[in-house]
Amino acid sequence: MSSAPVVDANPGDAPGRVNLLDLDRQGLQRFFADLGEKPFRAVQLLKWLHQRRVLDFESMTDLSKSLRAQLHQHAEVRLPSPVFDQESRDGTRKWVLSLEGGNAIETVFIPENDRGTLCVSSQVGCALDCTFCSTAQQGFNRNLSTAEIIGQVWFAQSALDAEGRGRRVTNVVLMGMGEPLANYRNVVPATRLMVDQHAYGLSRRRVTLSTSGLVPNLRRLAGESDISLAVSLHAPNDALRDEIVPVNRRYPLAELLDACRQYVANTPHRRITWEYVMLDGVNDSDAHARELARLLEGIPSKINLIPFNPFPGAAYECSPAERIQRFSSLLQRAGYITTVRRTRGEDIDGACGQLVGEVSDRIRRHPRWGRSAPEGAA
Ligand code: SAH
Repeated sequence: MSSAPVVDANPGDAPGRVNLLDLDRQGLQRFFADLGEKPFRAVQLLKWLHQRRVLDFESMTDLSKSLRAQLHQHAEVRLPSPVFDQESRDGTRKWVLSLEGGNAIETVFIPENDRGTLCVSSQVGCALDCTFCSTAQQGFNRNLSTAEIIGQVWFAQSALDAEGRGRRVTNVVLMGMGEPLANYRNVVPATRLMVDQHAYGLSRRRVTLSTSGLVPNLRRLAGESDISLAVSLHAPNDALRDEIVPVNRRYPLAELLDACRQYVANTPHRRITWEYVMLDGVNDSDAHARELARLLEGIPSKINLIPFNPFPGAAYECSPAERIQRFSSLLQRAGYITTVRRTRGEDIDGACGQLVGEVSDRIRRHPRWGRSAPEGAA
């Protein structure tokens, strides 16, 4: 039996051909079932594609000749291609990858003593309108496919192997361009590949999805995944959050916190990481710190203060170092584990909110909400 596999195709797929990098283990099992093959083929393919990173079917020596012929007929393997890469003085590495359709995205590798964190993008641009983020100013073009998301991990690990310095991707954070929960359909299979023991085999604790709070998809995620969650909070009350994270007008804090409580209830012994960008004179007073401490009471939490990274045209400045320290110590005194994110890769524009890629904006920027809501946000 060799009927055409029934799998969602992404735009750009050759007619009738499935990009195998779009499929997690379940997807591959369905693909092989449609070809009349056994489920274990999925594991073989995962190992070739993601562990050995061999993309050529003819080199997959444990597949029969006839199965290889079927793969040529029904499948293909397509990755984003590197345009250039840069290494920062602090060892941070940034790759610009070009995508079909003429866009580009950026992926950043942040080496630390005992780990290597890859910051991965989920969309070309972003449709949310956080006022302190330069990706927001680029507008939104499209969602990345699963292949384009996992392709960033594929590509980074291959490039690190080629360096021969023994550096490895041990952690992935979905904190690059885009709102991961607005691209739920493609992001979730990519995170499954990250944690699949036959693909990248990362611990669930070491894969972190960062969201500005698309509540319906956050609730859905709670039932389907147990990767780590980071939430871009940035303000301790609705009035201020409405202003700087405008998606809050749609999903206010009470709803967001409720969905977060549900998420941790499903992932025992886990904490939510709250991201809080430090904006001088905007959200960084003692009163804000106390309000934040009250707001998060009872939720297993870790607070990550992010010094604001400026970009051309930004309307904010970063809070002074002493202010950040004081804010941090107030939260610590209230019993919260609080860290201040060290800014990395600034000299190569690789820091938070500095990733811009090449985005041709397909939505008009203002007014954002209500007209062109991303998937699942309605
Ligand atoms: N859309 C997702 C992930 C992308 S950004 C989210 O909102 O969580 C990852 C983190 O960097 C978010 O917490 C984001 O708010 C923060 N960030 C964005 N711009 C920044 C800037 N200019 N300086 C510091 N942090 C920024």
